[in-house]
Amino acid sequence: MTYSRTGFLCLIVCVLRCLYEFGFKARLHHIVVLGAIGAIVLRLTLPIIVATVLPQVIQPDPREIYVTLTANCNLRCLGCRYGRDFMPGAQLPWPILNGLLEDCSALGIRNVRLYGGEPLLHKDLPRIVERAVNLGLSPWLTTNGILLKDKIDALYSAGLRSISIGFYGTGKEYNQYVQRQEQYRKLEQSVEYVRNRYGMNVDLVLGWVLMRPIFGEHFSPLCVRSLDDADTSGSPVVSVCG
Ligand code: SF4
Repeated sequence: MTYSRTGFLCLIVCVLRCLYEFGFKARLHHIVVLGAIGAIVLRLTLPIIVATVLPQVIQPDPREIYVTLTANCNLRCLGCRYGRDFMPGAQLPWPILNGLLEDCSALGIRNVRLYGGEPLLHKDLPRIVERAVNLGLSPWLTTNGILLKDKIDALYSAGLRSISIGFYGTGKEYNQYVQRQEQYRKLEQSVEYVRNRYGMNVDLVLGWVLMRPIFGEHFSPLCVRSLDDADTSGSPVVSVCG
């Protein structure tokens, strides 16, 4: 560290000296060129200078953490291996999660994204949410939403106010993609229940995944239908990812 710092400072001194000697002897356009080069060098090296001389100035400042609670899932989406051969049955136990949340709070992290697999399958989820809220964290759940109708009351009581739902098309296209029958109807019922019971007190986002298996050549009509469905379900936000 000492060697590299000394060497680096020597390099800076040499560059500045060259700029000084040549800059004042050369013609005007040489001064401009050298000034531009100096500015680029300074721009590229400034973070290194600061990190070398004052390392405490540059510190990680994490604000958000994503926690995969479980690898279990009740759907079988075509583009995913959770619930099958990817970490089958793996799940974080309460003692580890409790310690993790305490560490997050101590580090000043604000948002905790709880996801999976399907996080609604984790039996301790209300307890996890409650602990996070009590520690001053903002829990945010990412779910497929199928079980939300059954679970939202306990989660709302625990303090959950932010949910994003994977939205893989509508109707039979959705059921085909998740490889389970009658699941889109359950998703609709969940969203409808949350909206009717909690209104806009729950921040509900549909994360709309664009992909060939369900959109393909029918892209435009499905876009309109999906946005209509999102609108009638009262979702304030539809995010789109591919
Ligand atoms: S709902 Fe999510 S975790 Fe479950 S199979 Fe689909 S993409 Fe994977």
